[in-house]
Amino acid sequence: MQEFAPDAIVVGAGLAGLVATYEATRAGKKVLVLDQENRANLGGQAHWSLGGLFFVDTPEQRRMGIKDSVELAWQDWQGSAAFDRIGEGDGLERGEDHWGSRWARAYVDFAAGEKRDYLRGLGLKSLTFVGWAERGDGSASGHGNSVPRFHLTWGTGPEVVRIFREPVEEAERAGLVRFAFRHQVDELLVEDGVDGSACVGVRGTVLAPDDARTRGQASSRDVVGPFDVRAAAVVVSSGGIGHNFAMMRANWPTERVGPAPEHMIAGVPAHVDGRMLGITETAGASLVNRDRMWAYVEGIHNWDPVWPDHAIRILPGPSSMWFDADGHRLTGMSGVPGADSIGSMKQVLATGADYSWFVLTQSIIEKEFALSGSEQNPDWTDKDIRMMLKERLGKGATSPVEAFKEHGEDFVVAADLDELVAGMNKIARGGRVLDAALLRRQIEDRDRQIDNAYCKDAQVMAIHNGRKDRTGKIMRVAKPHRILDPAHGPLIAVRLNILSRKTLGGIETDLDSQVVRPDGSAIPGLYAAGEVAGFGGGGVHGYNALEGTFLGGCIFSGRAAGRAIARA
Ligand SMILES: Cc1cc2nc3c(=O)[nH]c(=O)nc-3n(C[C@H](O)[C@H](O)[C@H](O)COP(=O)(O)OP(=O)(O)OC[C@H]3O[C@@H](n4cnc5c(N)ncnc54)[C@H](O)[C@@H]3O)c2cc1C
Repeated sequence: MQEFAPDAIVVGAGLAGLVATYEATRAGKKVLVLDQENRANLGGQAHWSLGGLFFVDTPEQRRMGIKDSVELAWQDWQGSAAFDRIGEGDGLERGEDHWGSRWARAYVDFAAGEKRDYLRGLGLKSLTFVGWAERGDGSASGHGNSVPRFHLTWGTGPEVVRIFREPVEEAERAGLVRFAFRHQVDELLVEDGVDGSACVGVRGTVLAPDDARTRGQASSRDVVGPFDVRAAAVVVSSGGIGHNFAMMRANWPTERVGPAPEHMIAGVPAHVDGRMLGITETAGASLVNRDRMWAYVEGIHNWDPVWPDHAIRILPGPSSMWFDADGHRLTGMSGVPGADSIGSMKQVLATGADYSWFVLTQSIIEKEFALSGSEQNPDWTDKDIRMMLKERLGKGATSPVEAFKEHGEDFVVAADLDELVAGMNKIARGGRVLDAALLRRQIEDRDRQIDNAYCKDAQVMAIHNGRKDRTGKIMRVAKPHRILDPAHGPLIAVRLNILSRKTLGGIETDLDSQVVRPDGSAIPGLYAAGEVAGFGGGGVHGYNALEGTFLGGCIFSGRAAGRAIARA
């Protein structure tokens, strides 16, 4: 490392760090990339991701008959973000949303414009169908996507990583990039110069080699020795706080959503530890919107875990019936699976429990259960068309979903409702007992709305709505049927746990990804990008995300950091 004199140091070799490195090296800058994990983890969380990307008004949407526009997307973004901390001016009187709201406008323009060509230019291709994530809270001005915008990457997360990893590896061979794995940063070096204080490098700990660990496994923190290294610019791209439950609980928005869950499972690997947030704050950075996080309510324990407490998120279609821990059906649009994450979370936590239930049929699981994660979708990840046709259009649910049905501790399968509820009571937590009669009455009430053309049930209306576009009809939404119709059985119940995932607040940055101090001034030499920066500005999403916006946020903010370094 000594003989390599970098222009910039990137802390964290996830997607945001790779993008910043790619952009800086394109301008001939020399970049040292540090990561606490081994080389097998290159790409960080993005490798595990489904590779869903938020684009606006694309040829893929138009081919599916979806009419979208930047105006509609901006309306949706503002309704979802509900920025209420904007404040006035740029200095001390600016609010926590000051930069996040500006990033939001720029990001929606990017997603409706340059983003697609930028990524396609690097070799990324989308699948031909577009998913409808976060359909919203039922109001035109409020949260949610008015139209499907979730574009799946052919090759999922590993492909999103590949298009940046390969040029960065090329730059490594050309001598412009040096990777230092198992290097954990513990301090940002800030020194006074002629123009005031500036970030001039990092100090940290070299961790013992742990090459035997495969990607995603928790690694040792055994120390080999110290290191420090200097450069004119440092980019912090260290990810969020999703595997640091203590930090999540300390910042949990109890007043807004209810008490922090006692039992939580981890949607992200152990390296998503949030340590760099405190380290960057100590160096003078402003941290904002710490109470905003994007945890999900549809978590299941991975029966074949890679990291500790490994959770998988179900990406549900709209038809499963959703009950709280006491057996009362969730209401309104947030009772429709996949429509309104935070609204559902509020209803789940309002019972004082930290779990809820899906009740569904075999027909629904076959059409509507997708699992988030590259490894849970081997057909798309391996770009295997034959496997895709077999998995998605053949009989039964996909093999990973069937494996969960067979081995997952959260699944109950039964021939009738009484047997199902008995099975649910065996895995209910906290001594709660479900009443089969209460469930039966609500299911029968809902089932009567299936044949009713005038239907007053919000969820059944959402099911019909979900079958309007071709993706919904062909791939995503089961033909409406009665839950208690044995022809669609067996019955299935899934205990849904709360899983951690994304961090929506973080290090405050300006539109160049330069880190801002509490007084509003930029810290020379210090940048932050990706999840650690709330995906830009310290909170580009506000309170709610429209989905597929996280990878894109890493790309947009990493690009801004890399380009700013290139200009310096
Ligand atoms: C299963 C799953 C599915 C997902 N699906 C989607 C999706 O479909 N669409 C979407 O938009 N988003 C999705 N996401 C979210 C998205 O993948 C992440 O938000 C994003 O990849 C975060 O990237 P990052 O570069 O900011 O951080 P990370 O990927 O977390 O990388 C940070 C890196 O920094 C290193 N690091 C941390 N601290 C230090 C330190 N002190 N010293 C040295 N190194 C350090 C870590 O080891 C890590 O390698 C998904 C995430 C997961 C886990």
